[in-house]
Amino acid sequence: MSNPDFAIPTREPEQSGRDDTILPFAVKALDLRGRIVRLGAAIDAILGRHDYPAPVAKLLGEAVVLTVMLGSALKFDGRFILQTQSDGPVRMLVVDFTSPSNVRACARFDAERVAKAIALGAVAPGQLLGRGHLAMTIDRGPEMSRYQGLVPLEGGDLEAAAHEYFARSEQIPTRVRLAVGEEFRAGENGARRHWRAGGILLQFLPASPERARQADLPPGNAPPGTSPHVLPEDEAWAEGRAVIATVDDIELIDPALSSERLAYRLFHERGVRVFRTAPVNAQCSCSRGGVETMLKSFSQRDRDDMVENGRITVTCEFCSSTYVFAPHEIAASPPAAQA
Ligand SMILES: [Zn+2]
Repeated sequence: MSNPDFAIPTREPEQSGRDDTILPFAVKALDLRGRIVRLGAAIDAILGRHDYPAPVAKLLGEAVVLTVMLGSALKFDGRFILQTQSDGPVRMLVVDFTSPSNVRACARFDAERVAKAIALGAVAPGQLLGRGHLAMTIDRGPEMSRYQGLVPLEGGDLEAAAHEYFARSEQIPTRVRLAVGEEFRAGENGARRHWRAGGILLQFLPASPERARQADLPPGNAPPGTSPHVLPEDEAWAEGRAVIATVDDIELIDPALSSERLAYRLFHERGVRVFRTAPVNAQCSCSRGGVETMLKSFSQRDRDDMVENGRITVTCEFCSSTYVFAPHEIAASPPAAQA
């Protein structure tokens, strides 16, 4: 049997952190795989351009980190879309990640309810989201069917929803941590706040799937008196979970702590292997051509309703780019001649 580890070079972890990157890693001794996401300019661009109230921006930032972590793990070209719909002050979050590296995001919220929540200090993620659901959609293009996973939001945060998703849909023991913060930095025009965000995802993927079995979720229809399904947790996973539980928010967003050093700090006793980092770009996928196609798909009547001062103006909700059309530019193409 070959021993591929023999040839793997070892080195000290990189000292300086690189923002807007995804670092995959593996801890072979514990059958753990994971990724660390660290966002600087990219998250600042996304959140800065929207200028949402700070708690809404922070919540959307967490959704961006989660989306980047999950979307970048896809092994094919396509889009990964995370969307919440709920009854709290923040009605909807939408983040989409287009492989290999582009992400965009926006939120819809009730400004009055958000202001009230801020005044009351009720701005925990679960309080802003309320109840509803979180959908994760994988779109591999028009030729392929879409896959959608849904998990309920029940007053918890996005980490809790992600854990629920992996327990129910993927049945992979998974832990995620998400952090978003603001940094004050001196610039040409005085000190300005900059958003930073980061996260870590850890999964237990043993060669024998038996070891990854988790206790069944409590069935809704169990007869009274049924004892809950108990399954002892694998020791390797218990260790991985315990390590992730020690990660502080600051470790995920500190510009002075590289992703490699964080991975090393957490797992050096077991040996941690890192893979090539991937970049993340705050890049919207909207285009004039795309907007034109969308407008042409509307009925003439709907298009007529959109005309203001002789123009149709469409603003992208993700990046605020504005596209202006004269009505004749997007008139439906004349119907094909009848035979
Ligand atoms: Zn756009």
